[in-house]
Amino acid sequence: MTNATHVVVIGGGQAGLAAGYHLRRLGLDFVILDAQAGAGGAWQYAWDSLHLFSPAAYSSLPGRPMPVQTGEVYPDAVHVVDYLTAYEGRYELPVQRPVRVKGVHRDGQLLRVETGSGAWLARAVISATGTWWRPFLPAVPGREVFRGRQLHTVEYRKPLDFAGQRVVVVGGGNSGAQIAADLAYDTELTWVTQRPPRFLADDIDGRALFDVATARRRALDEGSAETGGVASLGDIVAVPPVREARDAGLLKAQPMFTRLTAGGVEWADGTSAEADAVIWCTGFRPALSHLAPLGLRGARGHIPTIGTQAVDEPRLHLLGYGDWTGPASATLIGVGRPARGAARQIAELLAAEK
Ligand code: FAD
Repeated sequence: MTNATHVVVIGGGQAGLAAGYHLRRLGLDFVILDAQAGAGGAWQYAWDSLHLFSPAAYSSLPGRPMPVQTGEVYPDAVHVVDYLTAYEGRYELPVQRPVRVKGVHRDGQLLRVETGSGAWLARAVISATGTWWRPFLPAVPGREVFRGRQLHTVEYRKPLDFAGQRVVVVGGGNSGAQIAADLAYDTELTWVTQRPPRFLADDIDGRALFDVATARRRALDEGSAETGGVASLGDIVAVPPVREARDAGLLKAQPMFTRLTAGGVEWADGTSAEADAVIWCTGFRPALSHLAPLGLRGARGHIPTIGTQAVDEPRLHLLGYGDWTGPASATLIGVGRPARGAARQIAELLAAEK
């Protein structure tokens, strides 16, 4: 079966919904295809204790503020899923689930979006598939000989699963710090980071990160040189559980080990630590395999874009993913602006074709 619409949005997480909000405002026909059975994108799979690094008021999509979560300054992931579910309903966004897009192809004047349940012909496509679905693990020698359990951030749920065990957490970003803090009380924890962890000042949370992103946006708009972006502030937001574990002296990072052995990990100087589990909090790559038929790949698995628009395929926009598709584009509050830009550019493209 082949369907037709103006715009296909691939992915029904926050980025896809923000795109839908703006496409609707501009009066375009569109559909949102999402591979998951339920609403909420990656937030459905967060570990139990995950909280946002910004208060609700700084975590809103366009149009509808995120309500405050009773008793919490920093909302948890369940609250985000509830918010995204209500958002879809409120704006009657046409999300089809579960529909996995297998490939996007050029088809004359149109783009053909192939899914497991039929195809869509569209004049433009917005890809908003996130990164959670492509966990990244570094190539460290010995990964295949280690006899314990290895898992990535995406598989981690709660400390009870590792109670009393010797656990090595790898990674000095927010996920690594939060999971290390989570495990610090009930396990024998070793936290390793590639360089000494950099904690943001305790009074800085996602609000300040967003301010930096806004300043960067403004600098770019005015043609100023590239500023450091969100990462320039430092790495780890000292959310309350991270702060508590750090202040209790439980978050002492070791340098990165050089290899895994059958029973644990070993550093260059020959020292070693035994381990029952290694948790790789080593980040993600953009989930873009569905765009492979378009042949657009650039450096580091990214697709070259100007703003959100693919350089070599102007009918394609990329939303979310990281700062390379717009400052703070991979955050709840930051995705609204690039979503608006993408929807406007598509409306202009369609108007010019008439
Ligand atoms: P996703 O939520 O991943 O949604 C993408 C959707 O596309 C999914 O439903 C997926 O199933 C679907 N999809 C993928 N491939 C296909 C396909 N081929 N066909 C159809 N559908 C497909 N941001 C904040 O603003 N505040 C925070 O505090 C914060 N904390 C974070 C903590 C962690 C641990 C992580 C990893 C991220 C955090 N972020 C935070 C960043 C960001 O907000 C989230 O990563 C968010 O989930 C990104 O939304 P998204 O819509 O881009 O992608």
